[in-house]
Amino acid sequence: MPNQVLISLNDISKTYIMGEVQVEALKPTSLEIYAGELLVILGPSGSGKSTLLNLIGGIDTPSGGQMLYGNKALTNTSERDLTRYRRREVGFVFQFYNLVADLTAAENVALAAELVAEPLAVDDVLRDVDLLERRDHFPSQLSGGEQQRVAIARAIVKSPRLLLCDEPTGALDYETGKMVLRLLRDIQEKHGSTIIIVTHNTAIGDIADRVVRMRSGAVAEILTNENPLPPERIEW
Ligand code: ADP
Repeated sequence: MPNQVLISLNDISKTYIMGEVQVEALKPTSLEIYAGELLVILGPSGSGKSTLLNLIGGIDTPSGGQMLYGNKALTNTSERDLTRYRRREVGFVFQFYNLVADLTAAENVALAAELVAEPLAVDDVLRDVDLLERRDHFPSQLSGGEQQRVAIARAIVKSPRLLLCDEPTGALDYETGKMVLRLLRDIQEKHGSTIIIVTHNTAIGDIADRVVRMRSGAVAEILTNENPLPPERIEW
């Protein structure tokens, strides 16, 4: 398994303040993310998985702790630096695809391509997700699995080092979900991307290089899979 550290989290925490109430969504957490690994963050609803993912992706800022990307600080940095990191280095895939409804598949991908100086070619990426022939279809004309593949194409057209996926199979049926996981593995192998998948589905942990188990806003354990299963082989 690759072990060059891409991101280090040192005592990263997040507390949401809602009026009188404080919610400690993430207790001080330290974690290293290795370049090129497929990491699965597992845990029940409310255990802090999305909070952790959003901090890693620069969507949210921590209440405490430090975060490094390579040797660059991602904490106590300017909004501009964080935006640049999020735009250039990170691709996001969400449970409900979040495509722009009045843009075609190709236009959704092209929009993301505009964020970086050297994007991949839109049609190459659509071919990678096996949707080239549907490039001119609108999201409403595509199935859930196809929409998620467009969302993955949109994330990878920027050629990001880091691909962050929040419950990417959560809205898909069993077979389609496994196809999406296969696609993520293929992308990791083809582009050398570092991929983090957040899920409550323990079966998905079997495809990971490492599994981070979350409980009550903290990392409960970190497991290394010596022999990750191909996505076709897992069952839930
Ligand atoms: P998970 O992804 O494991 O379901 P989350 O990271 O979404 O968990 O949430 C962890 C805890 O933080 C939950 O108790 C949730 O209600 C709370 N939380 C998450 N986001 C916010 C927010 N923006 N404001 C207030 N509380 C939040």
